[in-house]
Amino acid sequence: MDESAESRKRTHDEANAKQEKPNGANLRPAAAAAAAAAPSGGKEFDLDLLRIYYALLFPSEDIIKWLCCRHDPPDVRRVTTGEKIDPHFLAKREFSFTKYTDSGDEIYIRWQCYRKLESFRNALKFHNPVKIDIGAIYNREVDRKDSATGSFEPQQKELVFDIDMTDYDDVRSCCREANICLKCWNFMTVAVKVLDRLLRDDFDFHNLLFVYSGRRGIHCWVCDERARTMPRESRDAVPDYISIITGTDKMAKRVNFYKRDPPPIAKVALQVLEDDRWGWRKLMQQQKWFDKGSTHIDKLLQYLPTELHKELQRWITEDKKYSRFTSVELWQFLRDTVDKWGKVPRNEALKRQCLSAMSEVKVAYAFPRLDINVSKGFNHLLKAPFCVHPKTGRVCVPIDPEKAHLFDPTAVPTLRSLVDEVDSGESDAKMGPSKTSLDPYVDFFRTQFLSPLLKDTLETRMKIARKKSELTGDLSY
Ligand SMILES: [Zn+2]
Repeated sequence: MDESAESRKRTHDEANAKQEKPNGANLRPAAAAAAAAAPSGGKEFDLDLLRIYYALLFPSEDIIKWLCCRHDPPDVRRVTTGEKIDPHFLAKREFSFTKYTDSGDEIYIRWQCYRKLESFRNALKFHNPVKIDIGAIYNREVDRKDSATGSFEPQQKELVFDIDMTDYDDVRSCCREANICLKCWNFMTVAVKVLDRLLRDDFDFHNLLFVYSGRRGIHCWVCDERARTMPRESRDAVPDYISIITGTDKMAKRVNFYKRDPPPIAKVALQVLEDDRWGWRKLMQQQKWFDKGSTHIDKLLQYLPTELHKELQRWITEDKKYSRFTSVELWQFLRDTVDKWGKVPRNEALKRQCLSAMSEVKVAYAFPRLDINVSKGFNHLLKAPFCVHPKTGRVCVPIDPEKAHLFDPTAVPTLRSLVDEVDSGESDAKMGPSKTSLDPYVDFFRTQFLSPLLKDTLETRMKIARKKSELTGDLSY
């Protein structure tokens, strides 16, 4: 056994020992022991801390209420509007866990399901998973998938999107692979803002949840009743519509508007990019794509119509031969040139072509890069909000799209910082034992996402029931 496996095993054994006394009061001394063994600034993740997190801080009830879609289990049920409740709904939802075994190996357990909040909480205590994934809702309980006759088929699933920073590597100048900084995080800000606008305006979805993936990306959950119950064909059409970047970074052009006005989906992105707090100007300043000497200038030239291509080359090799220039200056030169040409009536078509090409560049460099396989079909499971990323110790917290430009992934609460807060006892006196820096995120989830979702779900069902009653005379819903 290598050293890390051995330390994982030790942690796991200790965690098992604590499981015999699973209530919060007994775990508090454990928090003290963990904090003493590795003071703040030490490793941000270990299984001991994780067990405390699940027992004291993880918002299990909110997660279950969300996933039940108003079919709450008996130990949560507060629905009083006379809705028909499917008592087996929660058990039809697949959960999966990634966990460490006693020997320190990482294993993946699929096809888990729960009938009550309490059994979900007990499973978290028992497995202490390093990752919880959420899957589809099937036509019968997941633990009966092999036992009953007839097929076992997924019937509902939230529409999800996964955006990972590594898909931006060809346009990232500041970091590579798993590394991120506030400069490249701005790509994610733009992705959140664009996706939020597209899903609301073009698809009329409202119950959206954006979540930091804990390391270098974001997830988006579209939870409207209509999205969750969409059949496969319509479900697959959404990510197809949203993917306008094609091919690989080896291609000269990954976006092509064929000299015409950008399509509506691109116009939404271009509007988002107008805002200087995160938009095109800021991205150019951060990534320095078109600063003198950058290899991206050659890529830019390939997008431009011949006339503008030649004019830009002349500017670089003659006007700027002996002086530096920034991306913003280069872009301003292109705009000024096109404006100047556009003043001559016979140049109308040329102006349109140039503006189309410049829009292609913006979209190619800044449009959200989706992993569309995650969004298609029902099969892909996605990590639950409020999991802790084992590599960073950061909690996968929700992101408010309105304030996405203020979100700092390096400042989200970590497993250790939260356990330290619980353990310090300071928060107890001021705010009560459950108050930590995770609370604003849980509060956002509860009030800005879950509460409107449950209200909208009820309204959608009542609307459908009204239509049905008009046809059949049945007034129930
Ligand atoms: Zn970076």
